Amino acid sequence: MRIAFIQDSGMNESAALLVLSSVLKLEGHLPRLFIENDERDLFGSLGRFDPGLIVIAIDIGGHYWGLTLASKIAGCVKAPLVVVGTYPTLDIEAVLARPEFRLVIPGECDVALPALASVLSSGQGDFENVPGLHWRVDGGAWCRNPLPPYLQDIESLPAPDVSLFEPYPYLLELGVRRFVSGRGCPNKCSYCYNNELSRGTRSLGQYVRRKSAPGFVEEIATSLARYPARHVHMGDDLFTHDAGWLRQFAGRYRRDVGVPFTCNATPMSLTEETVSLLSEAGCHGVAVGIESGDETLRERILDRPACDDVLRAGCERVRKAKILLASFNMIGMPGETFCQALSTVRLNKELGVQVPRINFTIPLRGTRLTQRAMEEGYLTREELAGIEQEVASGRFKMRPCFRSPDATRLERLFRVFQLSVVLGLAESQVCRLVCSGLATSVVPFRSLMLLLEKRFFGVPWLAGMRMFLHAGHPLGRTKNFNNFIP
Ligand code: SF4
Repeated sequence: MRIAFIQDSGMNESAALLVLSSVLKLEGHLPRLFIENDERDLFGSLGRFDPGLIVIAIDIGGHYWGLTLASKIAGCVKAPLVVVGTYPTLDIEAVLARPEFRLVIPGECDVALPALASVLSSGQGDFENVPGLHWRVDGGAWCRNPLPPYLQDIESLPAPDVSLFEPYPYLLELGVRRFVSGRGCPNKCSYCYNNELSRGTRSLGQYVRRKSAPGFVEEIATSLARYPARHVHMGDDLFTHDAGWLRQFAGRYRRDVGVPFTCNATPMSLTEETVSLLSEAGCHGVAVGIESGDETLRERILDRPACDDVLRAGCERVRKAKILLASFNMIGMPGETFCQALSTVRLNKELGVQVPRINFTIPLRGTRLTQRAMEEGYLTREELAGIEQEVASGRFKMRPCFRSPDATRLERLFRVFQLSVVLGLAESQVCRLVCSGLATSVVPFRSLMLLLEKRFFGVPWLAGMRMFLHAGHPLGRTKNFNNFIP
């Protein structure tokens, strides 16, 4: 059966989608990716492909795009449409409430999607055999199969099918390839949906799973032999939390792959041994979750218990090993003052961060951070609903989402954050910048972001420009960005 995957752009794709493609091919199906941004006439292209099934992944936060397109497709394409992704996984009732959908699979789909394709190919309609499938019966009611247990042996899955990108050569010519060694995250940050997902699905078995280091290295080596790359990004939420695993990975990766790579880490995991193993493996850059310069905010609001000394020690090891240091930061946490936000600039400067990344804290329904913010009066139910509506309608503008007397200054600091860290500005200079016209201009802030990300991922100018023209800003991501839920 021909199966169409649809995503909005080519930036930061879902690793899960490539695995699904391989799984479907093993069962004799023919998957094809359609990137909306790159199709002059998406519906014409879909019509020519004539799929037996259309898969659309709807991500939480990106659901305006997903729901709008899925509704259009459901209304004018005759092939059945199945909705997957983090949005139906975390808010299934919102998806089931929409009359235009007939098939929904929440959660991981490695087993469910091939099973659905077989049922549709056979024409039997025995949907009871598709684990986790929710389907609408005549009369409008939904039938729901229970979610299957988490697949524990993820190494038994076939390697990601990179040929899915062949219709869009700019993706392969970029020379940067993402690989993921595991699924789930062992941390419990209060603002992250990963945490809610693991709590809500405890009965499905072990949530955090990982491939063996030798198996993972072999997967990368085999893939790069066919689709060469200058740079590899380990897309795991955390790549460094298991020193034993890294011991098996480092030498093998250098010997069998030898391509510079970047990865994500927590400060606590950057021990002497871990950093030395990263260096041995040929690590080019590490992105560390700093989030806030204020220890109390990190601990009390974000549930990230890492004291400044641990941060200092971890980052210093990275710099000493001559590995590029990037950081994740947030501004506009519930109760955060301008002075506390300024301390995040200060800490990034002190740690010698070369690629500082900055984002606003966004309230996600159901997370501990959002619940506490409402209890403590930083957000009302109405305000949360308003933000969700803006996100849902695609009108959301980046800004502090929680009530704060410092909202304007926080918004301005957000714009000059990277410049301040990269230039190592003194606090008085940062404050002057916050009051200046530059803090209201979008251009320098976005250009600097582009340059910093280009450096982190080792992207050459020409391929980077081509990617940018096709897919947009490098900090953007497809609406189906997730490592294990397509
Ligand atoms: S470390 Fe990252 S992925 Fe893991 S829970 Fe925290 S924010 Fe989420």
